[in-house]
Amino acid sequence: MNPKTSNRRAFLKSSSLGILGATLVNNNEIVDNQTNPDPGLPGIKTFRKLGRTGFRVSDIGCGPAVIPHENVLKAILDAGVNFIDSAIAYGEKNEIMIGHAIKDYDRESLFISSKYRVREDTTKEDVVTQIRGILGRMKTDYLDCLQMHMVSSSKELKNEAFHEATGQLKSEGRLRYIGVSCHGSNWFQDPEESMEDILSNAIEDGRFDLLLLVYNFVQQDMGKRILEKCRKYDLGTTLMKTDPFGGFSHSFMDQYEQLQDKGDVIPGYLEHIHHKILELQKMAKSFIEEHKLEDNDAINRAAIRFVLSNEDAHSTLITFRNYSDINKYIHLSGTKLTDREVALLEHCRQYLGSYYCRHACGLCEPFCPEKIPINTIMRYNHYFMAQDRQKYAIEKFYGLPQRNIDHCRNCEGFCENNCPYGVSIRYLLSVAERNLTINV
Ligand code: SF4
Ligand code: SF4
Repeated sequence: MNPKTSNRRAFLKSSSLGILGATLVNNNEIVDNQTNPDPGLPGIKTFRKLGRTGFRVSDIGCGPAVIPHENVLKAILDAGVNFIDSAIAYGEKNEIMIGHAIKDYDRESLFISSKYRVREDTTKEDVVTQIRGILGRMKTDYLDCLQMHMVSSSKELKNEAFHEATGQLKSEGRLRYIGVSCHGSNWFQDPEESMEDILSNAIEDGRFDLLLLVYNFVQQDMGKRILEKCRKYDLGTTLMKTDPFGGFSHSFMDQYEQLQDKGDVIPGYLEHIHHKILELQKMAKSFIEEHKLEDNDAINRAAIRFVLSNEDAHSTLITFRNYSDINKYIHLSGTKLTDREVALLEHCRQYLGSYYCRHACGLCEPFCPEKIPINTIMRYNHYFMAQDRQKYAIEKFYGLPQRNIDHCRNCEGFCENNCPYGVSIRYLLSVAERNLTINV
């Protein structure tokens, strides 16, 4: 290996991109699935009323509950977390794991919510069958909430098959509440609706009790307005995508440098990206020095404290992957942002805002002549990097009707010219492609 290249790579890993690669560092930890190595885990300190359900929910919740072993979920529950977020889309194995974990706990002390993607042709029988399936796999008599998963239009909220089925199951005592999770419209959907449009309609509909929405320190305005409206109508609120930069890593730089190491000619499109990486490296280095960052998790901690500081947000859902994550996140319960963290997040927003594609956005997509679902691809990459759900992310990516990012190589970047946040779309799409593509 070229020593110059090697030194540069070491520098990148230890400094600039390291702060963004916090989650990836943790991904490499060995997960002990069998026993809890630290019985003195921290505990939840704050509980909030989950809107009109009246349930006192832990300010930190477990979700999506895609955990490698039931013992990890038990440790999460032992720490005081009492909200479990699941979905049919996360797989039956996962539901069975939840069932094994909760059998030793007082069922009434837990709030278990699942999600089901309702389509136009979904029948009442489909919904009833799905809920009975969940109950069977989780070995529980009832589900606290069933949410419509990833609602992408206000029309879907009126799906009468869903409402008739959930009404029947409520009267049978098998279901208590219904809710909605939303990332806004899918690409090129007509009419296009934002997350706020759809969730606002869900709130006014009157039948939904619980929402799952995007809210974080970079993308805060829309989420804040939705949370305020939920307070007025007394709906329960849960949050997702609370750390916008989770997992952004040096992996793409590695790919670039591997090409250099092999003596390959660097294609033009990678040169363009290389320039972006160097720009990021420069910004991040001064950022680390200015904030005297001592560890890679400082931004992540501050990001979680930011959302916890909003009392209209009842439970912030964390993707726990192992015991280390329990240690890392539970102690944030009941804490508030420090002045130093406020400054850190403000600078992070300024310096790194162009490296975060806002969840539930999609404003640039109509300008792409190739109809590339930019926002959705970025979200799948978030699952891959921030949530450590590689298999799920890759499967979702391969399910997209258009995912050919080759078109971007020779495109002048119409999308970038139409992103109000100045996101480096071609760079981020390249990172996503690197992560989500299976090379055979
Ligand atoms: S790149 Fe910009 S405009 Fe496009 S979806 Fe992301 S944040 Fe929105
Ligand atoms: S660079 Fe061009 S082809 Fe690629 S997403 Fe943007 S507009 Fe579409």
